[in-house]
Amino acid sequence: MSIQSDDKEYIAGTYNRFPVVIVSGKGSVVIDENGKSYIDMTSGIAVDSFGACDEVWREAIYEQAGKIQHISNLYYTEPCVKLAKMLCERTGMSKVFFSNSGAEANECAVKTARKYASDTKGPDYNTIITLKNSFHGRTITMLSATGQDHYHETFRPMTPGFVHAEANNLEYLKVLADAHKTAAIMIECVQGEGGVIALDESYVKGVAEFAHENDIVLIVDEVQTGNGRSGYLYSYMKYGIQPDIVSTAKGLAGGLPLGATLMGEKVKDTLKAGDHGSTFGGNPVACAGAVSILNRIDDKLLSEVREKSAYLFDVFGHSEGIEAVTGMGLMIGLKTTKPAKEIVNECIDKGVLCLTAKDRIRLLPALNIPFDLLTKAADIIKIAVKPLASAMGI
Ligand SMILES: *Cc1c(COP(=O)(O)O)cnc(C)c1O
Repeated sequence: MSIQSDDKEYIAGTYNRFPVVIVSGKGSVVIDENGKSYIDMTSGIAVDSFGACDEVWREAIYEQAGKIQHISNLYYTEPCVKLAKMLCERTGMSKVFFSNSGAEANECAVKTARKYASDTKGPDYNTIITLKNSFHGRTITMLSATGQDHYHETFRPMTPGFVHAEANNLEYLKVLADAHKTAAIMIECVQGEGGVIALDESYVKGVAEFAHENDIVLIVDEVQTGNGRSGYLYSYMKYGIQPDIVSTAKGLAGGLPLGATLMGEKVKDTLKAGDHGSTFGGNPVACAGAVSILNRIDDKLLSEVREKSAYLFDVFGHSEGIEAVTGMGLMIGLKTTKPAKEIVNECIDKGVLCLTAKDRIRLLPALNIPFDLLTKAADIIKIAVKPLASAMGI
């Protein structure tokens, strides 16, 4: 009890926490202070890619922590170079900038795009188009990028230079791009916080083609969708496009803070010495963790993610109380007839942790969640989503 009451007294009240104190975990099971265990369908919001305290990952970060934990970006270190090389080789991107979070990875993407446009078209070309219902982070500039008004209220003035287009409406986007001096278009292939909604394939392809033809920088925000979450290494790969910039974070280092901005051929030399930086960015321990994670996101794992995804789409597609199953890979949204909050609370009672996104249930289990735990969690969720009358046999 004292953890919860002291938290309320001493920690800024920005989070509506569930009344559970988590003390430890192993894989896809986490344990609270009373010893109760939960199947974790959240992985810390898509962060613990291989679940809690994964042994291979833990060894990798322990080993690096025993050598040196941090030395600053004024010196060369091996883990961040190794990671950058792996990321480039597996994506076809050319260079990487490391930071510590999704918002920072996006900030770097926007700085890079603005500088590229300024260098090639002139400083007036600074508008960034993002989508309505998007989410790009919590800094003032990334709130401005985020196309949801309720995030902006009481924090104005927002950073200028962002306009929001209707998702899945290519004509709208083209008109908007022509009406402004546009530097970049930034999209999430699957809108995560916006309700786990995948964009139409023809739209994403159309956006990529339009951006390419007009030398507009295409940024794909893979902060949540990235690093195997979508069933592909990065979700843009499923859409068959090649972005100019990819930002990622959440699951990249398997539970340590790390952001990465991947730059394609076009913009790889845009940022010069002094243009950008981060004290913690590229931290050796976080990068060593990420190398171990990325090493294991191979074709076999990705096909298992897609298999588990298909299983969840199938089970929930035939569940009473679920109106729609959306998303991609192990990033799944459930539109339910019962309020999502109620369902999450019932699941907590029954030993399953899940999330919400807007009015939907959001599931983000570890990429390697064993099938038996996945089935068990799905069974519990299926009961929790049932409308009360039907659950009571009325
Ligand atoms: C979580 C998220 C962010 C913000 O990441 P932080 O690490 O919280 O700054 C940005 N974009 C998307 C798509 C996200 O899901």
